[in-house]
Amino acid sequence: MSGEVKRENSTVNKKSAFVRKSRYYNKKKKVENKEVEKKKEIKKPVHKEVKKAKTVNTDKRKEAKKEFKEDFQFKKSNLKIIPLGGIEEIGKNITLFEYEDDIIIDDCGLEFPTDDMLGIDLVIPDVSYLVKNQDKIRGMVITHGHEDHIGAIPYVMKQINCPIYATKLTCALIRNKLEEHHLLNSVKVVEVDAGDVVNLGKFSVEFIQSCHSIPDSVMLAIKSPAGTVLHTGDFKIDYTPIDGKPMDLGRIAALGNEGLLALMSDSTNAERRGFTLSEKSVGEALDQLFLNCKKRIVVATFASNVHRVQQIIDCAVKYGRKIAISGRSMINVIKAARELGYIKNVKDETFVDIDMIKNYPDEKLVIMTTGSQGETMSALTRMAAGDHKKVTITPNDLVIISANPIPGNEKNVAKVIDELMEIGAEVVYNTLADIHVSGHACQEEQKLLLSLARPKYFIPVHGEYRQLLAHAKTAEMVGIDKRNIFITHNGRILELNENEAKFTTSVQSGKILVDGLGVGDVGNIVLRDRQHLSQDGLIVIVLTMDSSTGEIVSGPDVISRGFVYVRESENLMEEVKNQIRSEVQRFEERHITDWGTIKSSLKDSLRDFVFQKTKRDPMILPIIMEV
Ligand SMILES: [Zn+2]
Ligand SMILES: [Zn+2]
Repeated sequence: MSGEVKRENSTVNKKSAFVRKSRYYNKKKKVENKEVEKKKEIKKPVHKEVKKAKTVNTDKRKEAKKEFKEDFQFKKSNLKIIPLGGIEEIGKNITLFEYEDDIIIDDCGLEFPTDDMLGIDLVIPDVSYLVKNQDKIRGMVITHGHEDHIGAIPYVMKQINCPIYATKLTCALIRNKLEEHHLLNSVKVVEVDAGDVVNLGKFSVEFIQSCHSIPDSVMLAIKSPAGTVLHTGDFKIDYTPIDGKPMDLGRIAALGNEGLLALMSDSTNAERRGFTLSEKSVGEALDQLFLNCKKRIVVATFASNVHRVQQIIDCAVKYGRKIAISGRSMINVIKAARELGYIKNVKDETFVDIDMIKNYPDEKLVIMTTGSQGETMSALTRMAAGDHKKVTITPNDLVIISANPIPGNEKNVAKVIDELMEIGAEVVYNTLADIHVSGHACQEEQKLLLSLARPKYFIPVHGEYRQLLAHAKTAEMVGIDKRNIFITHNGRILELNENEAKFTTSVQSGKILVDGLGVGDVGNIVLRDRQHLSQDGLIVIVLTMDSSTGEIVSGPDVISRGFVYVRESENLMEEVKNQIRSEVQRFEERHITDWGTIKSSLKDSLRDFVFQKTKRDPMILPIIMEV
């Protein structure tokens, strides 16, 4: 594989030498070549050697011809970088790179709904801009297989269709999603290896070995005639990765030496000092817990964290325990990861069916489960609540929660821990032992990456605003010019070339809510109604009126839901009815028979009345029938 990487590198070198040269020919056409060369050499003596090395590799006559031709070309276009998600939020990462008539899409993730999005299953990015520019799209490139990077693919592929390029495990996860949506036959998924280069219109994209909490993560070097952008995807720098595939720091340094136009880098942990610990450190902590343990062990973690899963399996094998798996995603991921060779050194006999666990003594068993985030329907949550069909937690259980709660999930996780402890189980979570490490780089790793890449422009991505800001400050500290750091927004177009970068216009962006089979049919009005209903309930008034006289023929009937318990509030309901009757009588006296007017003033007066009596504001729905 290293041979392949080398080959790619040398083509890249040639190409980028060409780009670099043409760049400053455009800038200072009138100045003599030699003078420019001299100036440049004085400014950046480091580049002299790099350049020399390149000239040796290239045919001088060919190069001179190219330069001559290049001299008479018009000014090159700008590269446009347009994030449609992932800025000022954690989730739905998607960035467009546009150069003249070519667009490529980098990642296509989803976001989980916030508490105020009642009934919403997931949130996807608004890709109207892509739909409008369908003919320009050359392909989609993916950094890794987490939901916030691939989750929206099936929804977006129903609106646009283009080939998807990703590494092996990521491809497998994408294909699963496409299959669920019956898109497997209509979308082309192309498997690539780290080191490969894919040409997409005027772009070429190089996949670079990275390191994160899911195997097969890559960074992307996106090359355009305007320059090269390195997009890190999610990363941490782990010098001792579980799969033995460290980040290709050498390649990043080489790109830095060639001259990077811009760096877009993961800001998740930008507020945290120091280094993120190696995934290996978790294995050591787990080993300590398994050592001499006589209890049954239950471990909860993210199913997609294959390296973590491998380390738990290693412990089970080492201490002679059988493994039972609980939770649909855990079963699926372990099956897929074993088939693809991402989980190794374990025999089929080590796994036992969850139905068979009663046949094994506690000290010979590990149960691996989902639910590390306290999700309502997950296996661990049900075990803690005592309503899991197959696993009953007892005081002879050691429960290890090998994950940190994602912001927003803290309360759910705490509840699960409390319930497990009330049963008498021993519970170990991250505050008690080092059984989890982050998959994202802290400040010192971010500094290393910035120092190797030495980009002209820096764009912090993948984070809330405060994280982007912290990352911007780190970049300033390592010497990136403050004027060259851009905190962007979803939908904003950042146009850049070697000489300048600036925000120009915006494109449509936003959140599309998915509820069941409905995509985008739940908007602000529906959400507002749901919030209203969830807070104060509903009162429905049904009455029949004589259309000629305006008299009440039958009713009013008052039905309420989520407002008060009717049996204990008969007086209130009676008062409500009286209020309606007197209101209707007033209309009758004034000879008002327009339904619209009657409905809305009935609503208003009842609303005031109910609020006065109860200090609640239920939704009021009058239904008036005429005879
Ligand atoms: Zn990730
Ligand atoms: Zn991510």
